[in-house]
Amino acid sequence: MAANILVVEDEPAIQELIAANLSRAGHSVLRATDAETALRLVREALPDLILLDWMLPGMSGIDLARRLRADVRTRDVPIIMLTARGDERDKVVGLDTGADDYITKPFSPRELVARIKAVLRRRAPQATEDPVEIGGLRLDPATHRVSGGEQPMSLGPTEFRLLHFLMTHPERVHSRSQLLDQVWGDHVFVEERTVDVHIRRLRSALEPNRFEHLVQTVRGAGYRFSREAE
Ligand code: CA
Repeated sequence: MAANILVVEDEPAIQELIAANLSRAGHSVLRATDAETALRLVREALPDLILLDWMLPGMSGIDLARRLRADVRTRDVPIIMLTARGDERDKVVGLDTGADDYITKPFSPRELVARIKAVLRRRAPQATEDPVEIGGLRLDPATHRVSGGEQPMSLGPTEFRLLHFLMTHPERVHSRSQLLDQVWGDHVFVEERTVDVHIRRLRSALEPNRFEHLVQTVRGAGYRFSREAE
């Protein structure tokens, strides 16, 4: 399971420890020592998960979590708060930050990695290696295979990521800019029509086994993966 994780932590030793353990677990790690830097990084690319220290210089972790939750673009990014030992945990829970989980310092690296895995599974299934099957179409991130039907289907890496995201978020309309954020990790420097090009390629790859109707165009809004007729 390889996810892009943003670590927001102002204590260098702890940040280093976390980054080393997450890299060892196969994740890509981005780092920030304050909320302002974190916001800048999030503006550039949406991470799969944010590990957020509660006490930061300047804007606090709680305020940052609230800001991310208030913005349509960032509200679904999973957040795990890091808190100091003591009774802060209860306070944090009461503060309704919208965090998905809390980890109290000091924590064991194994616990950290396990908690991240659990949150990703629940909140960002496209960042996990769990196979997905919908309407007879099966996608397996571990083997990078798409199957179902008799013909072999061969997808390029972008089409594969696109299909993985759509299948883990079915029955919902995704705008082009949301897809750029989620699949390309970039909504600023990639043109929206790039999405259309890859959607077309994805449909062609699914066509031999008649799965192309699952990838639907929603006029004026974007794309949707659905078993229901268009
Ligand atoms: Ca701190």
